Amino acid sequence: MRRVPSCLIGSELDMHLKLYARGLRPISVVSPRSFVGRISCSGNRPLPTDVLLLKDRPGELPPGFRAYLLQEPADVAGSDVYVLPPELHYLATGDVVRIDPQRLAVSALYRRGSRSNALLVTEQCDNYCVMCSQPPKEADDSWMLKELMTEVIPLISPETQEVVITGGEPGLLGLGLIGLLELLKHTLPRTAVHVLSNGRRFSGADFASRVAEIRHPDLMFGIPLYSDLPEEHDYVVQARGAFDETMRGIIHLKRSGVRVEIRFVVHADTYQRLPNLADFIARNMVFVDQVAIMGLEPTGFAKTNLDALWIDPMDYQTHLAAAVKSLSRVRLNVSLYNLPLCLLPPDLHQFARKSISDWKNVYFDECRSCARQGDCAGFFTSSALRRSRGITAFAGPAQE
Ligand code: SF4
Repeated sequence: MRRVPSCLIGSELDMHLKLYARGLRPISVVSPRSFVGRISCSGNRPLPTDVLLLKDRPGELPPGFRAYLLQEPADVAGSDVYVLPPELHYLATGDVVRIDPQRLAVSALYRRGSRSNALLVTEQCDNYCVMCSQPPKEADDSWMLKELMTEVIPLISPETQEVVITGGEPGLLGLGLIGLLELLKHTLPRTAVHVLSNGRRFSGADFASRVAEIRHPDLMFGIPLYSDLPEEHDYVVQARGAFDETMRGIIHLKRSGVRVEIRFVVHADTYQRLPNLADFIARNMVFVDQVAIMGLEPTGFAKTNLDALWIDPMDYQTHLAAAVKSLSRVRLNVSLYNLPLCLLPPDLHQFARKSISDWKNVYFDECRSCARQGDCAGFFTSSALRRSRGITAFAGPAQE
């Protein structure tokens, strides 16, 4: 009899961040014997890759299944039983996980019920943003793209609304990114693809043309721009010359016919220039397809640098209102992500989106009696590290 230890996801992440903070290169935490499986909650007709999810106490593994996933720790025999950490108890039939037998670790890779799934393709990046939520790593992680293309994408439901390709910097994959987009076009033709990129690799027109030649039916690049002043943008992304490359990347993508969203994260180093950036976009870049302005997620480097980066959204309301006004005036499509309604001026509520993935979306005690919770973005689980002074429930009957 063997005690199954709980999973290691959280501690692995912390270890990586600590190593990185000390200037060390983290090693890969995925063992070569890891495998990808699709979750099934019933014992019927499994695919060869299926893993069976149960609450506790398995019997003999039914034929055809690769492993058991348990929600409760249990004394069990055998090497095919893994325990989900509580933060992964939301997993359900059709979701896709990576299981690392050596470390007894389980990672969620795809959720069938989610409107938008983020697929991590690399942790390498040529920016080093002060608020990066996914701090870059230098180690060779080419296995990520290979695993995604050969093991994960074939298990994704064709009914999935959208996948987000994220990193690191997906543009660093070069032709690997082209191959990925072609595969997505053919395997998931009804699924929108949103690529989160810093745009720098598209500063040469050829790469942008290669992307356009794929003719994906529903593709958009989300590219951050943090200031109209090159030196301020370069400071935020910690890369000299990045502004020029990003601007040229945006122009090349648009000139090739690829849709582009400009993204902006509001924090203490960026909020003052937000109205100027909005004027700059409204004057010079009305050809972009949409603009997303986002509240800070206190994780990764944003958590490490939180003392320097935190600003109460109540204190940048006027900057936000001015920016939205400039962008709306030229009929640009503007969205506000990760910003609770009670922290926005009323005339900005129409721009706010419920944007936080449900598995990391929380509401505070004040929200229990709030009439607007149904259409409010709420908070990240990590938002409790800093709370705005403006969190106040709306009175009245609940709205959907
Ligand atoms: S009280 Fe909570 S639910 Fe209501 S608007 Fe504020 S953050 Fe949203």
